[in-house]
Amino acid sequence: RAKEHGRNNYRFYKPEMNAQASQLLALENRLHQALERREFDVYYQPQIHINTGEIIGMEALVRWRHPELGLVSPGQFIPLAEENGLIVPIGEWVLRTACAQNKAWQNAGFSPLRVAVNLSPRQFQQPNIASRVALALEETGLDPQYLELEITETTIMQNLDFASEMLRDLQTLGVYISIDDFGTGYSSLGYLKKFPFDKLKIDQSFVRDLKDNPHDIAIISAMITLGHGLNLKVVAEGVETREQLELLRSLQSEEMQGYLFSQPLTAEDATNLLHNPLIKTNIYCSTLCIAY
Ligand code: C2E
Ligand code: MG
Ligand code: MG
Ligand code: MG
Repeated sequence: RAKEHGRNNYRFYKPEMNAQASQLLALENRLHQALERREFDVYYQPQIHINTGEIIGMEALVRWRHPELGLVSPGQFIPLAEENGLIVPIGEWVLRTACAQNKAWQNAGFSPLRVAVNLSPRQFQQPNIASRVALALEETGLDPQYLELEITETTIMQNLDFASEMLRDLQTLGVYISIDDFGTGYSSLGYLKKFPFDKLKIDQSFVRDLKDNPHDIAIISAMITLGHGLNLKVVAEGVETREQLELLRSLQSEEMQGYLFSQPLTAEDATNLLHNPLIKTNIYCSTLCIAY
């Protein structure tokens, strides 16, 4: 490993690394039992129509309640799970849980939303991914049009021929497909026109500095135009401030997701929000100065 870093910055082995490695190992050991022990939970972050403030979807985001460490962020354990293959059963559980939750919302009489589920490279690369998704839909009774799958550019670029086949199978199923973290992967744009995407999610790194950085405005504006030109819906991720929202609106982005409207919520809190979207929506609309 040390070799990979090149001759000039040869990495010396330090005792802290040992401690870090053993922490990681402990985390990984625990991860093996986490599903059985029901330590995972799915949170839901609303996706909002920028002009109306209407909740049009929810992104499912997995959480791990570690008995000693508390909430472990997906940024920490998803890469581990991806490496050791546990992402496959974990991801399958998230998919079923999210589909079942969305069906429960529909049964409760809320107007239909789309639930978005992240698919990691390893999950996506299972040869039977489309039939697994079909099975989850069948078992939970959710109509395919209310499921969205989020896939990153990097996942797609790992094997273009395979990706092309899988995406077509998924499209045939009738599920919605988005490109997650758009702009952070390989910058080849050729794949965009070849594959059946429905939505482009602009990565939050482009939204973050939107206020004071004219270059970011230029880039995001180009991404939105590109998405629309290809007939895709465009969503901006990580919207935290009113200024960012107003800018996005002026650039004709139609959907947004971020702390400005809501953090990811437990199923219970998300249900409460759906019961009472007007309160939230009114606050939101008044920040936008929209007559509501
Ligand atoms: P992602 O799919 O790009 O999800 C968006 C992340 O941005 C989430 O982090 C969300 O909580 C966070 N976020 C949303 N709005 C804001 C905002 O306004 N400001 C900031 N600073 N952050 C915001 P989270 O939940 O920690 O997830 C991180 C990543 O882990 C996700 O990125 C996704 O790649 C992965 N992940 C999460 N859940 C799953 C899962 O069930 N399966 C798989 N395969 N990956 C998952
Ligand atoms: Mg995502
Ligand atoms: Mg993302
Ligand atoms: Mg991300």
